[in-house]
Amino acid sequence: MKKVVLSGMNISDIEEMMTALKESKFRAKQIHNWIYLKSVSTIDEMTNLSLSFREQLNQIAQVTQTKIKRKQVSQDGTIKYLVEFEDGECVETVLMRFDNRANLTACVSSQVGCAVNCSFCATGKGGFKRNLTASEIVEQVLTIQRDTGLKVTNVVFMGQGEPLLNLENVIAAINILNTDCQIGARRITVSTSGIAPKIAEFAKANSQSTLAWSLHAPINSIRDKIMPINKKYPIELMKKALSEYFEIAGRRVTIEYLLIKDLTDTLECAKALSELLNGMKCNVNLIPYNPVSENSYQKPSNNAIMKFKYLLEHSGKKVTVRLERGADIDAACGQLRGKVEQ
Ligand code: SAH
Ligand code: SF4
Repeated sequence: MKKVVLSGMNISDIEEMMTALKESKFRAKQIHNWIYLKSVSTIDEMTNLSLSFREQLNQIAQVTQTKIKRKQVSQDGTIKYLVEFEDGECVETVLMRFDNRANLTACVSSQVGCAVNCSFCATGKGGFKRNLTASEIVEQVLTIQRDTGLKVTNVVFMGQGEPLLNLENVIAAINILNTDCQIGARRITVSTSGIAPKIAEFAKANSQSTLAWSLHAPINSIRDKIMPINKKYPIELMKKALSEYFEIAGRRVTIEYLLIKDLTDTLECAKALSELLNGMKCNVNLIPYNPVSENSYQKPSNNAIMKFKYLLEHSGKKVTVRLERGADIDAACGQLRGKVEQ
């Protein structure tokens, strides 16, 4: 007989199961806590259940089917997991710690592969396989918690895949992360390459979470070349969608801007970006390009990064530069492939 998988069940599912086993609702609450907050891997670890009940539960249920296929630890403490689901498909999930903060941020994938195929990103090169279910998205956070014994405090949808092309499951996952894992909606960020027709739907469902737009180039002619999605949803269309987002959610968006040497880190781009963002309710996050073997782009110089930042700040925007995490294990932005490298 196939065992019931407890992880993925909500409190009413577990209560129903307990009723069928003639156990109290309180048992359901205990089991729910073990799964989503204490994140155990086995029923045996649920030590406030009696031994005999644990044995009974073991006969019919298991905590999870998700496996860690590979784990790599970076010098800076970042951990990259290759997580395997029931059907054998794998995605990468990254745990980042920032030295001076207590926050533990999980960078989760929303799809196996990605169809958007941006020229600078390793994920897109492998093509698109399938959407992840809501439960598979949450499993990535729980896998980290089970493995480290730590509680994830922040989640960013910046792993593999385009979250707005799997919006229904992403929204459901955010609800579970929020309700069951008790991660505040304000501590969840969804990054999109810019699927304009999905923005309003995201805003209505998730007005508390942060939306980040991977803009990366302020001029359509450059953006067309590095992000083919721009031909479908060009900059102006996205700008309109984002002002609608602000109307609905009342929240500033984060503009992610990739600095590629001599392509997007130029003075011309800095000026065009300042103009484009003029009047837009946003913060800017500059991402220095992380090298991936699939293309020949180069990192910007530190000088170019500082100059670009200065110019943007001058136009009145709050600008941060993203810290590179886990580059020695290919865990930095854009380096996730989701395969075991030969
Ligand atoms: N698909 C979504 C979310 C995943 S990517 C999106 O594109 O927004 C998370 C961020 O990493 C995006 O801003 C993405 O453009 C950026 N990224 C991709 N490749 C990169 C690279 N080689 N170096 C630095 N950032 C990269
Ligand atoms: Fe997909 Fe984002 Fe990579 Fe583009 S940057 S290919 S949208 S994962």
